[in-house]
Amino acid sequence: MKPKKQFGRKKGCLRCGRKRGIVRRYGLHVCRQCFREIAFDMGFRKYS
Ligand SMILES: [Zn+2]
Repeated sequence: MKPKKQFGRKKGCLRCGRKRGIVRRYGLHVCRQCFREIAFDMGFRKYS
């Protein structure tokens, strides 16, 4: 089991590359802002 995924360049958000407030919920690796958008896009509406 080798992790083949490359999270962006370093350890930033997958979308914007930010390194602050990274959320790794639901297998994602994005910052809070992007997570909000993604979550909303996926149907999650808990981040209000
Ligand atoms: Zn982001």
